[in-house]
Amino acid sequence: MSKAPTRPAYRQDEHQETYLYQPVAPHADAVRIAMVYPAPYQIAMSSLGYLVLFQQMDINPDIDVRRIYADTLTEHNPRELEFMGLSFAFELDIVKVLDIYAAYDIPMFAKDRERSHPLIFAGGPVPMSNPEPFAEFFDFFLIGEGEEVMVKLMEAYRKYRDIPDREELIHRLATEVPGLYAPGMYDVAYEGPDGPISAITPKYPDIPMPVQKQLIANMDDYIASTPIISDKAIFSNTLLVEVMRGCAHRCRFCLASYSMLGPMGSGLPPARGGTIEKIIKIIENGIQYTDKVGLLGALVSDHPEFPVLCDYLDAKEGLSISSSSLRVDTLTQQIANTFKKGGQKQLTLAIETGSERMRRRINKNLKHPQILEAAAMMSKAGLEGVKFYGMVGLPDEDDHDVELLADLLKEVRKDNPKLKIHLGCSSFVPKAGTPFQWQPKISNKLVDHRFNILRKHLLKTADVRASSAKWDYFQAFLSRGDRRLSKLIVRFYELGGSLGSVNRAYKELKEEGKVDFPDLDWYALRERPENEILPWEMISLGVPKHILYKEGLPPPGFENAKFTN
Ligand code: SF4
Repeated sequence: MSKAPTRPAYRQDEHQETYLYQPVAPHADAVRIAMVYPAPYQIAMSSLGYLVLFQQMDINPDIDVRRIYADTLTEHNPRELEFMGLSFAFELDIVKVLDIYAAYDIPMFAKDRERSHPLIFAGGPVPMSNPEPFAEFFDFFLIGEGEEVMVKLMEAYRKYRDIPDREELIHRLATEVPGLYAPGMYDVAYEGPDGPISAITPKYPDIPMPVQKQLIANMDDYIASTPIISDKAIFSNTLLVEVMRGCAHRCRFCLASYSMLGPMGSGLPPARGGTIEKIIKIIENGIQYTDKVGLLGALVSDHPEFPVLCDYLDAKEGLSISSSSLRVDTLTQQIANTFKKGGQKQLTLAIETGSERMRRRINKNLKHPQILEAAAMMSKAGLEGVKFYGMVGLPDEDDHDVELLADLLKEVRKDNPKLKIHLGCSSFVPKAGTPFQWQPKISNKLVDHRFNILRKHLLKTADVRASSAKWDYFQAFLSRGDRRLSKLIVRFYELGGSLGSVNRAYKELKEEGKVDFPDLDWYALRERPENEILPWEMISLGVPKHILYKEGLPPPGFENAKFTN
């Protein structure tokens, strides 16, 4: 293996990093920005989106960029920075975000910052779905895929850099940079403290309403791959390569699919991948430095030329190949064999449910025999195990549907006695921007009851790993929350930011007479009427609201559907 250019990273001397690109020295007048990942180094260095944006800036002499992680604070004065850009992947990341603000002496609330503080923005899955509970902690969000919008942000900023007033500067950026959502530029009114939103109004006539999420049309220019390989990353010394972005299948709960839908008439397909030639070229270059390759994407096997990639990988000796989950109906014997040869012990299949009627309800168009066949292919390939991913609490689900998932896994066990079966399971959390955004979440008690059905029935069949009902609930009230929750988030943070602090935070605020927002069940467990103004409606969903609502309804004849596998 040859050696790539290396350089000591920003206060990362203890880590061995290999750069797969040549950084360019910034000029004296470059825009100073810190790319912040609100989690430890080892997680940040496995986040492809974060690293790719860092690389993009690190080769631009107009930008002086550095990295900051939750466990790597720097001695830099934040007032020397012009921007802090945060990658915001999970709701609970807000705890680390507020920790970082505290460490740098940056006011928590955007309204309290001065012009000399950096402009703080976030991008990633949370802002793309519903940034509202976090609206008061950021100056703005970038909605959509970041690669092109970052370029536009930097271009616009260079024009307005000398504006002395912070609000005026953000106003200019919000009007000029597509996909930039600045919460402070919008007023939100409510139907009373316990009620839903009555109006969302831009403060100035030139502020966009709604903000259009930004998607990339030509993926070939932006195939993401690990730019810096690190021995301390979770995917240690691994070249991650993005094979597909988005997914065309539109399972009704799935953000990975709906967040990638372009506006009606845009012609942008919800699943996009680069050409296989380009993907192979990236791998060919990367394997000069590592023998581990991870294929990324919501559904890598959906790439129309995935078999060609398998042929290429099959011909390589000594490569370790891993992947995120595969879709049952795109799995072939060749794909299973390729991963076995690449050292995989098991593959993951996201089936969500074992019940035919629930598959129809969520638009997961798989058939029972296809799932059995996929497991058989894994056995035949010589894989040790299969990991299924399931969900409980899907809309209109019954205990019988959950039992059918257990029955299905028992059938897999019977057909493939040597295959180890794992079941990863979580409860359904309605996500903003999907057709199920109006649907209720089930209570923690019912979640535990349904998890117990699985555990009881699968005692001798599968290793069942269920998520925490409390954690799913936490995600649920935030994923459909509004900006009134910022008060709760601050108290939750002050109490230590563990899941157990949520109820205590609410109780304390209530006792102090400071609750001027609905209770948390109102956010998490309530079915929302179609005509309710949703907190995230200042962001374009891509699909008109009435069409999305219709897609979330039960399919025709659902009420009479039988409980079968
Ligand atoms: S197949 Fe998977 S990635 Fe695609 S929409 Fe369904 S759940 Fe999402």
